[in-house]
Amino acid sequence: MTDRINVTKTSLPPMEEYIEEISSMWENHWITNMGEKHLQLEEKLKEYLNADYITLFTNGHLALENIIAAYGLKGEIITTPFTFASTTHAIVRNGIKPVFCDVDPDTCTLDVNKIEELITPETSAIIPVHVYGNICDAEAIQEISDKHNIKVIYDGAHAFGESYKGKNISQYGDATMFSFHATKVFNTVEGGAATYSDPELQSRLNYIKNFGIPGEDRIVYAGGNAKMSEFHAAMGLCNLRHLEEYKAGRKQVVERYQKNLSNIEGLRIWKKQEEVESNYAYFPVFFESNGYDRNHVSDQLKEHNIFARKYFYPLTNNNEWYGNHGSETPVALRLSEQVLTLPLYPDLPLETVDEICDIIIHSKL
Ligand SMILES: *Cc1c(COP(=O)(O)O)cnc(C)c1O
Repeated sequence: MTDRINVTKTSLPPMEEYIEEISSMWENHWITNMGEKHLQLEEKLKEYLNADYITLFTNGHLALENIIAAYGLKGEIITTPFTFASTTHAIVRNGIKPVFCDVDPDTCTLDVNKIEELITPETSAIIPVHVYGNICDAEAIQEISDKHNIKVIYDGAHAFGESYKGKNISQYGDATMFSFHATKVFNTVEGGAATYSDPELQSRLNYIKNFGIPGEDRIVYAGGNAKMSEFHAAMGLCNLRHLEEYKAGRKQVVERYQKNLSNIEGLRIWKKQEEVESNYAYFPVFFESNGYDRNHVSDQLKEHNIFARKYFYPLTNNNEWYGNHGSETPVALRLSEQVLTLPLYPDLPLETVDEICDIIIHSKL
């Protein structure tokens, strides 16, 4: 294969559509600080996600960091190490200790049977991640949260627009973070959002993301700057119109991978969960045995100019910054050594999917 194939390719609307969307800014000269595009996108996303309340951010990471700050959480937060560094950093950058809980091998989300033993008097919240768009056991997590009176904040960066048991995932827990990064199913170039059910959080998030300034002449908090600009919001308005096309394209690619790679001994592939309306965000394959070695397969693909990614490796508790504590979460550690996330984007040609699968199948040691 000659052209480089990456794990993802950013979805863009037709250029003319974006130019049309931003043209009003040359009339009103309002390009950031909650202008009309920002307000429109907030309204449209609130509806799409069926959220009680929504606040937009510069990126998903700052959405999560600011939700934690807005709730005034302290002490310890129970979370998963099988995630992107952002989830753990958001906890630590708030001065809170992350307590790592192991994951369920099928969904790669928090193992709900292992959460309670980690709760201490210092625990203020649980931050689970809907990894690959696999939805966490939200009902069991809610029970634990109610019993111990601790918050639940989901990292929903992979789960934009998904629903579980007929309810949009923004309806679970106290709050959910979404990422609209260029690599995600829905993008605003860079961007993110918090959805939540507590009306009091809205004004707090609005001033925390704007230097702690709730209105003229007052400063009430040492907030940073995490506002989404009008150009980013305009990209979101365009991409949202094309979202169903993007998802349909992704679904075709996923189904082709499933067709080609099911029933290959030693490979375990992504399976859609029952009762989840999926966004087809990622296609992970776990190389478990039968002569298949994840690193070797990854190298073989690279030789053909195909760049799959080891999401998530290393674990966030198994690296030089957080210490090498991977052995405390053995299931997550094993998954991180077996997983490869394959190229997936709406217009990835199905013939290319076939070639990728062929290389994988023939990559035994
Ligand atoms: C992308 C991602 C983030 C960070 O989102 P940004 O918008 O890039 O800041 C956090 N958590 C997970 C699981 C992600 O995949």
